[in-house]
Amino acid sequence: MTKFEKLGINSVSELALLIPSSYEDYRLNDTLKPHKNQLIDATVESLYRAPSTIQITFFSHNLGHTLTGVLFRPKPYMMHQFAVGSRDYYYGMVECKQGNCSMVMPKKVTQIGSIVPKYKCGLRTDVMWRFIKKELRLECLLEEGIPSDIAQEVLKLHFVDSLDENSSEMSASSMEALKYIELYNYMLQLSSKRRYFEAIYTAQSDFKEWTKSLPFSLTAEQIATIEDIKNDFTKTTASKRMIVGDVGSGKTMVILASAYMVGSAKSILMAPTTILANQLHEEALKFLPNLKITLVSSKSKKESLEEYDFIIGTHALLYRELPTASLVMVDEQHRFGTQQRNKLEKLVNEGTKKPHYLQFSATPIPRTLAMIESAHIDVSLITTTPFTKDIESHVIHKSDFKDLLAHIKGEIAKNNQVLLVYPLVEQSEVLEYQSIEEARAYWEKNFENVFVTHGKDKEKEQVLLDFREKGDLLISTTVVEVGISLPRLTTVVIVGAERLGLSTLHQLRGRVSRTGLKGYCYLYTNQKSSERLDEFVNTTSGFDIANLDLKFRKSGDLLKGTNQSGNQFKWVDFVEDEAIVTRVKKDLNIGG
Ligand code: ADP
Ligand code: MG
Repeated sequence: MTKFEKLGINSVSELALLIPSSYEDYRLNDTLKPHKNQLIDATVESLYRAPSTIQITFFSHNLGHTLTGVLFRPKPYMMHQFAVGSRDYYYGMVECKQGNCSMVMPKKVTQIGSIVPKYKCGLRTDVMWRFIKKELRLECLLEEGIPSDIAQEVLKLHFVDSLDENSSEMSASSMEALKYIELYNYMLQLSSKRRYFEAIYTAQSDFKEWTKSLPFSLTAEQIATIEDIKNDFTKTTASKRMIVGDVGSGKTMVILASAYMVGSAKSILMAPTTILANQLHEEALKFLPNLKITLVSSKSKKESLEEYDFIIGTHALLYRELPTASLVMVDEQHRFGTQQRNKLEKLVNEGTKKPHYLQFSATPIPRTLAMIESAHIDVSLITTTPFTKDIESHVIHKSDFKDLLAHIKGEIAKNNQVLLVYPLVEQSEVLEYQSIEEARAYWEKNFENVFVTHGKDKEKEQVLLDFREKGDLLISTTVVEVGISLPRLTTVVIVGAERLGLSTLHQLRGRVSRTGLKGYCYLYTNQKSSERLDEFVNTTSGFDIANLDLKFRKSGDLLKGTNQSGNQFKWVDFVEDEAIVTRVKKDLNIGG
């Protein structure tokens, strides 16, 4: 095994990131430095053994006086370092009391004259130091593509020529160098994984005519995203793009515009549920009257799909023979397994050529993360929604229950709908909130048209459809994060809100006020105060919430049920380091 393997690294720049945990100053000095580690040039004059300590009398030549060395609980091998009459270099912590100075746990040092870094890693300290001196050289870092200013800065952390003993903090420029290298290595690796294939379809297309046919004008970010895709279609390599936009940001229009541009060269769209596939199908029929469109579900007849321009379906698509398509799209991509997504992509392959591939996700990610990800997949962000959603959010407690009931009755009187989300209870748990089963009796007794569903409910799609038509109150667990639109839903009450991750809360809140009605979101909690929930109610932007999520995760407010974003960075901070990400992107020549 090489030393690189033992350390679990692949390159010199990764070696540079294994910075010392401390330094030892092996330079000889003729003044005594109490309370500090210090090197002495000394002759061992005598040795005295007590039951659990050994005392050594040193004569220090550099200081010009004697000094007592003290070893606590000495191990046998330590003894060889202190032969009476011999002169050597010793290093240890110097303490002085009433004019008597001692060195605690002195150890013999052979190589002197420099500041030696100490490493906490899989190698012995001296082995590691020799390895670093051999491998970690400026020219090696430059060869790996690290810019010279960064390389020089990081080398300073290993090869130190002075110690600022008053400061234990790393300088801003050292920090920046570490962040840079960490990002550089990560993004380089990502981009090397990206494979380029010839596209089945390459064309100049346009969507301006189509936008004229719409009942509303597209938002600037919808247009910018469609422009990105239009530009992808002009390339001879198959594109791979992720479109990330909040719930309600109008991603469907981007899907339809893409299918419009491809036209008879054929598009396929996969959605995670039958309801959503139906909804997309209806919208496609409405806004793309000139395309031959079909809907595929597990119940569809197995007729040939050859004649259609735009095939929309659930994962039932994976079990059908599909015509060669120029474009493949996956809506609500985060709800599919990687395997299902890949399978779809494979199904529509023609020889070595590939379709353009667009994935749509409603899980907002911080902009910096999107930029990092762009090393292996292009990313378009839609951060605004066509209507400014008017949603009031409040953190509420038991004492607010009466007001809450009055509000719910008021909304129902206005023919609006209310969603009550209860925590998912595992049997082993003792919970301070009611479960759905406990709560439903109350609501069913006091309200009409109450519908209940939960995650394992096989009928949940039907329950949701029935509720949409004739319900007042829907009681559920977090299942309703399905993309079905409930136009009359104006209020969501989330019981035990502190148990859920901010992104889940955001998804749930995104269910209400989808058509511009005034919306309300109540976070019901038994917690006296929560900064996390307080900050949540102050913003409705999913992108702000993604940043908040990072902030609270970093501050240790880790909750069960939050989906980890897998922060594999030790130095990089997604919220603060956009400028460094930008530089790395530029240096690595990653576009988009
Ligand atoms: P998403 O899929 O991103 O959650 P949708 O595509 O379902 O959002 O859009 C939400 C609602 O906004 C739909 O009713 C849609 O018709 C409407 N919509 C989309 N784009 C616009 C726009 N530019 N102006 C007005 N309404 C829009
Ligand atoms: Mg959608």
